[in-house]
Amino acid sequence: MELNENADIDTSQVEDRRGSGGGGGGLGGLPIPIGGGGLVGIIITLVIAVVGGYFGINAMGGDGSNQAGDNGNINQECGDKASATKQLDCRNVLYVNSIQAFWKQETPEAFGMQYQPAKTVFFKSRVNTACGAADSGVGPFYCPGDNLVYIDLSFYQVLAKQLGAPGEFAQPYVLAHEYGHHIQDITGTEAKMRRAQEGASNSEKNALSVKLELQADCYAGVWSKAASTTTSANGQRIFKSLTEQDIQEGIQTAGQIGDDTLQQKGGGTVNPAEFTHGTSAQRQQSFSTGYNTGDPKSCDTSF
Ligand SMILES: [Zn+2]
Repeated sequence: MELNENADIDTSQVEDRRGSGGGGGGLGGLPIPIGGGGLVGIIITLVIAVVGGYFGINAMGGDGSNQAGDNGNINQECGDKASATKQLDCRNVLYVNSIQAFWKQETPEAFGMQYQPAKTVFFKSRVNTACGAADSGVGPFYCPGDNLVYIDLSFYQVLAKQLGAPGEFAQPYVLAHEYGHHIQDITGTEAKMRRAQEGASNSEKNALSVKLELQADCYAGVWSKAASTTTSANGQRIFKSLTEQDIQEGIQTAGQIGDDTLQQKGGGTVNPAEFTHGTSAQRQQSFSTGYNTGDPKSCDTSF
């Protein structure tokens, strides 16, 4: 995978809160009910355990997100296109640009409605959201209350080192999954799912959550199919190259964050009643369905 250094990087699609000293609010650090927003279910506890015990929580917000030249301010860094495409944060801005460029075009055709842009927030360690305060341990997530995607970029280190998904395409896959939740928000699917959950048993609620999450994986696959054709504001293609190997990395990532795999890694027994995101096999299959068809309608889920 190679990004095009001639593509404009639209940093207005990302809110960089890494320098703001964290969320700061009184609720800091409490796990929040993000619901259908997150990338992963069990990891909420797994990562806290793994990261807390292994790196120390502070280390996660430190070295993890910093690469050479990444001083934590996209507005300063991403102006020089040639060097920007080598930096983690600017690359992630371009992924967001590509994902939103795709859905802007696709949403009217697929759903008969206009796409509504949604920013991604880069944060470090903890952040305040309309869904409550969150720390990095919850992994990336989408908050329907403020229509924002939240990510601590050091999550990619966890993904690579702890969860066995080191491929670079893991990163746009993660973001595309979260924007899949934004699409579900726009189309009303997320609200329908919440209504279906009312009065349901816990295992029924989880089963409904799995359907929502698998659809978000499918939407990530749909974007992946079109990613190489997406363009920036100056008409340049955002990806210079995108290969079958990259797609395989996306599928590999989906396989590393299935509920069954994460439960095993967490040292617990595999309990399907507690699945909230789907098994590894299901997540891989959903991503592949979206990728193979390139059609959001192939991701149809009824609630
Ligand atoms: Zn999700």
